[in-house]
Amino acid sequence: MPDTLTDPVLWSPRNPDMAQSWAKPGALTAMLRGASGRCPSCGKGRLFRGWLRQVDSCDHCAAPLGAVRADDAPPYFVIFIVGHLVIGTQIALDGVMGLSLLAEAAIFLPLTLAASMALLRPAKGATIGLMLQLGLVPARDA
Ligand SMILES: [Zn+2]
Repeated sequence: MPDTLTDPVLWSPRNPDMAQSWAKPGALTAMLRGASGRCPSCGKGRLFRGWLRQVDSCDHCAAPLGAVRADDAPPYFVIFIVGHLVIGTQIALDGVMGLSLLAEAAIFLPLTLAASMALLRPAKGATIGLMLQLGLVPARDA
């Protein structure tokens, strides 16, 4: 059992044990299936067993969904998207309406929180879908 804190994670897209054992749809299809919370491989099984915790494997096609480690990529994408939307809206509204700081805080802090929470799960699903499609699954016994 490798210690993932000290041993490097070995990505093995050509691992014969894992690479061809599940279907690989196109990247866009896999990302859309993942974003909708379905298995990126077959589109029928569930991807999540909680809000953000992914299942170990698809109950329909046995794709190793739990082995795909999206890590910090989904929050990065969410911060990037929400930051641009909220800051752009805030600047536009500030130029037109001239809101006070308190009014801006009352509008944009909850908006930022709600948008971030709403986008995090689809972003994680899409990231997992893309990673699975690209074969970015660590080898089991590396
Ligand atoms: Zn599946």
